[in-house]
Amino acid sequence: MNKYDSELVAGILSGHGYRLTRERGDADIILINSCGVRLHAENRALSDIDQMLAWKRRRAGRVVGLLGCLPPLIGEDLFERHPGLDFALGPDSYHRLPDLLNAAAAGGLKSGILIDDHSHETYGDLVPLRETGVRAWVAVSRGCDNSCSYCMVPLARGGVRNRPVDEIIREVETIIAEGYPEVVLLGQNVNAYAADGTGFAGLLRKVAAVPGLKRVRFMTSHPKDLDDDLIEALSEGGAICPDLHLPVQSGSDRILEAMNRGYTRAAYLNLVGKLHDKVPGIALSTDAIVGFPGETEADFNDTLSLFDEVGYASGFVFRFSPRPRTEAAGLKNDVPDEVKTNRLMKLNEALSASRTRQHSGLVGKTVEVLVEGSSPRHPDQVIGRSREGFMVALPSDDLHPGDIAAAEVEGTSGFTLLAEQVKTAVL
Ligand code: SAM
Ligand code: SF4
Repeated sequence: MNKYDSELVAGILSGHGYRLTRERGDADIILINSCGVRLHAENRALSDIDQMLAWKRRRAGRVVGLLGCLPPLIGEDLFERHPGLDFALGPDSYHRLPDLLNAAAAGGLKSGILIDDHSHETYGDLVPLRETGVRAWVAVSRGCDNSCSYCMVPLARGGVRNRPVDEIIREVETIIAEGYPEVVLLGQNVNAYAADGTGFAGLLRKVAAVPGLKRVRFMTSHPKDLDDDLIEALSEGGAICPDLHLPVQSGSDRILEAMNRGYTRAAYLNLVGKLHDKVPGIALSTDAIVGFPGETEADFNDTLSLFDEVGYASGFVFRFSPRPRTEAAGLKNDVPDEVKTNRLMKLNEALSASRTRQHSGLVGKTVEVLVEGSSPRHPDQVIGRSREGFMVALPSDDLHPGDIAAAEVEGTSGFTLLAEQVKTAVL
């Protein structure tokens, strides 16, 4: 979502005559888009601010602003901790940027302006300045109505706002006209999408039916809101890819309850069973948190065994990080760091083993690859993703970004499937 927000900001500014540069030396303005989900991300953004303030001091007239989740999370303290920071804007206030920057250019911007406006903003009127490539991101909603006890997202981004169906479809049509073959629908919990009498499965089908679209994926799906209709939509194929990010967070009922996730281990595994039955070959991925307050060895082993049982294609594991004003920040952060690290390593090993099992199961099979570009390490090869989301490398001198090729998997290397193009295959 943060990457998409940067594209929105670039869209706003390019519409006001600003030009994006990748060279810091050429820039007059630096905007830092911050994430506050974990302390580590916060610290990285705060250290970026200090580095950019040093850059600002080297020439008069330079401007440094902070965007994203940290402004609402930290508030006015930001300016005491980082004197010289010109302004800080929360994630719903990006439309205010041109005025702030014009004021700065006219020398009329007093330092230390915090704008944290939880408006009804959805940025529906805006054209993001997208990265080139084969994949375009489209937000279907902003904010989140859940209250996972560890999570600062609702505090920083506010409650959910769904974009109207027509607006999303028009954006997808524009994206296809610009030449992107794949769309990723984004929301903190897309499964709770509801607008104009349409739920997420309905929206997904409408997006998949837009002429010219080759592939559609989505994230993130909250397990408590994953309904049979969405599983059905996933089974229908076409442009809808058999690829689902379904964060479990923990395999222990006790911890799931303390996290306020709204489902049990059994309910989650029941969903996984239905998904495997209805969508053969679906690739599931997850997020998990280790060392949540009170997590015992037995709780952790429940997560480890759930990982083994599900057999994820990929996942992200995080050490619990207490975030200000969340419910879990009030609990005793009682799992020692070294225990968290050890649990994180074990879950990553389980992920690596299940990925290897899935990769090995694909050897000898034909997958459909959407080519993304040439391989950075092997210029005679192209890389792309299969419908399930696996990275695939294959030798070719006539495939280009956006092409779809059939490829037979011959082996694996780390995170990548090694394949040969099957020119006779009909896709
Ligand atoms: N809305 C999505 C969801 O429900 O999964 C994504 C939320 S968050 C941006 C991405 C991941 O960060 C979460 O799935 C969770 O695993 C992790 N996370 C969130 N808060 C955390 C915290 N306080 N400590 C450690 N990990 C956290
Ligand atoms: Fe955070 Fe939970 Fe909302 Fe995801 S669903 S953004 S983890 S509160």
